[in-house]
Amino acid sequence: MHTKWVFGSLALASVAAAHSSFDLRVAHRALQKRGPKNAADAAKIYGINQQCQDYGDDTLYEMTQAKQFPTEGQIATIVSNDTEAKQIWNEIKSSGIIPSNVQVKQGTDGNMGIADSATSGYDKSDPDCWWSVTQCTKPKSNKIPEDFYQCDEPDTWGLTFDDGPNCSHNEFYDFLQQNKLRATLFYIGTNVIDNPYQAQRGITDGHDICVHTWSHHYMTTLSNVQVFAELYYTAKAIKAVMGITPRCWRPPFGDVDDRVRAIAAGLGLRTILWKEDTDDWSIDTGTPKSKIESNYQKIDGKANTESPIVLTHELTNNTMSMFVEQYPALKKAYKNVVPLTACLNVTNPYPEDIVYPNFEDFVGGNIDPKNKPDISTIKVDASASYKPVALSKQTDKGSYMSPGSGSASGASASSSGAGSSGTAASGSNQSDASSQNTSGASRTTAFTLHFVAVLIPMLAAGAFLS
Ligand SMILES: [Zn+2]
Repeated sequence: MHTKWVFGSLALASVAAAHSSFDLRVAHRALQKRGPKNAADAAKIYGINQQCQDYGDDTLYEMTQAKQFPTEGQIATIVSNDTEAKQIWNEIKSSGIIPSNVQVKQGTDGNMGIADSATSGYDKSDPDCWWSVTQCTKPKSNKIPEDFYQCDEPDTWGLTFDDGPNCSHNEFYDFLQQNKLRATLFYIGTNVIDNPYQAQRGITDGHDICVHTWSHHYMTTLSNVQVFAELYYTAKAIKAVMGITPRCWRPPFGDVDDRVRAIAAGLGLRTILWKEDTDDWSIDTGTPKSKIESNYQKIDGKANTESPIVLTHELTNNTMSMFVEQYPALKKAYKNVVPLTACLNVTNPYPEDIVYPNFEDFVGGNIDPKNKPDISTIKVDASASYKPVALSKQTDKGSYMSPGSGSASGASASSSGAGSSGTAASGSNQSDASSQNTSGASRTTAFTLHFVAVLIPMLAAGAFLS
């Protein structure tokens, strides 16, 4: 009896030790059985709850089990056994691109905000080209290219959606398809890991994809290595899940300075901001719908004077529905509603062989990229190798680093005397942007509220940081 008892206890103890990983695997199998098996399956599910049920992709499950990505819900850092990431990070550091005179900004609320003292005490001559305070888009360092924030082409709305892939975006993506719309999608790394089939639909539907960081914090408040890891692992997730190497990114809240831009440039990512902001996210924090409608209408009213890149979100069903409601009016106001690939004449946004239509082709009706992956065959690929190339070393024509020239001189370009392809951000543009925006401090408060009010309920609902 005694021997048997001891043996039984040992057996139990070993089961207990294996308990968590065993349980996870059982749970994964159950999810896999219940949920969609691939992107094509997932695209046929409708209703928020049905689309947002967890499911299990085998390959991605093994990758996350092998700790190939940072912890979800936390600011990214290099994972401990990742020698490849460490090597790339060392190369960026030793390239000399990161300016040593730009300080890390003081964050608040776990880096979900910027301290008022940091913005109010910031040198007004703007030595860091810190967008959050001055809307600066022209770096002080000549090693870093300028940010994009407007289109080259006249009468054009640059269509972008941030914070996806949202687990319940099928109705919205259907709407984009039905209206022959293609957009630039700024995806959050953890959302790509959580919703891989929704992410795959983004690329197979013919949109173009940029990085929107791993965990959506204020980037100027993070250390150099955190900034690197936030961008690196998002791009790596996009490469594994969608098969493409992104070469563009947008800072959450627009919070970027030359230190952050430099690290992004080292990873081969061009910074993209916006000229007009719908503030659509604030519907979920209690802003009356009428206010967001009037924001859209104001942008509609500028169709003859500028060609803005516009900030809109696939954050929640409210932000997606708002775009659907506003689309007829904005389509009437702007002759062209196009993704940034067309708006900036970027025909080769990735090093992979996928060719996007330039502006002329796009408005002529050829809206889909050549060689884009197919929704019925796209698969997560654990062996996909993410190899970033610094912006300074990218020679590809038609890339975000070297866009093609426009078919016409842009409305905004002609009014400011500078095109947006790396030569924009004249003083007049910057003051335009300032006048549209609140001060840095109140902006910070508003965005913090955004996260408290929007993301906590979303976390509770099982969605993460969309
Ligand atoms: Zn965002």
